[in-house]
Amino acid sequence: MDFVSHDLTRDMRLYVPHNDGWEAVVKPNAVKEYCYYRNPGEEHFHLLQTGELYVTRGSEKVCLNCAIRQGILTDNRQHWQEPKKSRKVSEDEKLI
Ligand SMILES: [Zn+2]
Repeated sequence: MDFVSHDLTRDMRLYVPHNDGWEAVVKPNAVKEYCYYRNPGEEHFHLLQTGELYVTRGSEKVCLNCAIRQGILTDNRQHWQEPKKSRKVSEDEKLI
């Protein structure tokens, strides 16, 4: 096997900018479970495959493509430096 061919063309690391209960899971079985979201213009939900990585929170299971599209995940390593949209940063927090 040629491991050189696995050179990454982009950063594959993913981050959860608003880590409010999301967990990453490797689907351990073949039980039929579907992604919570659909691709724009598609009528069907994605079947999650055995061994597929997905994120979950409560009853929501989301494939990585949809999680990125929904803003649940990001490949922006600097996400924590960007101002939060939902709340203002207090003077104390700016000192950290
Ligand atoms: Zn999906």
